[in-house]
Amino acid sequence: MYHSRCPVCDHSELSSLLSAKDYTVSKENFEIVFCENCQTGITQNVKIEEIGKYYQSADYVSHSDTRKGLINQLYHFARKIMLSQKTTLLSRLNGGEKGKLLDIGTGTGYFLNEMKQKKWEVFGIEADQKTRHFAIQTFDLQVFSPEKLFDNSFSAFDAISLWHVLEHVAELNKYLAQIKQILKPAGHLIIAVPNHWASEQNHYQEYWAAWDVPRHLWHFSPLSIQTLCDKFDFQIVEKKMMPFDPFYISMLSTKYQGKSFAFVRGMWRGLFSFLASWQDVNQASSIIYVIRHKD
Ligand SMILES: [Zn+2]
Repeated sequence: MYHSRCPVCDHSELSSLLSAKDYTVSKENFEIVFCENCQTGITQNVKIEEIGKYYQSADYVSHSDTRKGLINQLYHFARKIMLSQKTTLLSRLNGGEKGKLLDIGTGTGYFLNEMKQKKWEVFGIEADQKTRHFAIQTFDLQVFSPEKLFDNSFSAFDAISLWHVLEHVAELNKYLAQIKQILKPAGHLIIAVPNHWASEQNHYQEYWAAWDVPRHLWHFSPLSIQTLCDKFDFQIVEKKMMPFDPFYISMLSTKYQGKSFAFVRGMWRGLFSFLASWQDVNQASSIIYVIRHKD
């Protein structure tokens, strides 16, 4: 798919900045162009109908349960802590009350299951059939294919979450428009995405692991999420960093650079990035945006 306009703000001034490599699956290169108006990055020439084959890798940890290797083990450790942070955030936003949650891009279902344990009414959307079945069978969850989102059977959610999902969604505007319809007036939309304003991105550039092409179709900045929210009459009420991401992303990026001692170097660079995002959330590797309908 070749984009001549920005999917977020519809501007046609797109500048080519870099060519990024798919290090995890295909080793193919993809061009990323950036909107000069809202700084959304766009991966060019992704064949959406063939995107499934780019997810076929045991290294793609967010879609599998492998525990092989130090980086994967750390990922799973971090995921445990992040799970608790996510559930705490949702409970707080809902005033400590139980609510109704839709998690789009549920993956293996760990987060949704935690919320179910907290007595929330939970529903999930997951595009990959195998992953969906894993979530249903392992945790007895209600997880559906993406078509379900648009068949008018869903409504009135207290919270809708997309944890590192929106960057994978081809029909960006269609999803946001539907979310707008099914989120309660006082409900919260949680969008967590990589941030290409991340301080370590300047250092790694084309090796930055969070480009993750062609799986990441879009590369958001705080400005692009703000622009997207304005378009759908949403407002950002909170931005939070994800504390492990600078370390994880930096380690992977150092590995992609082909440097030795990737773990130590990556941790060191990750620490700089962590401190930078501690001071300014707009420089975080990934940002959790808490969003509401505009007043
Ligand atoms: Zn734009």
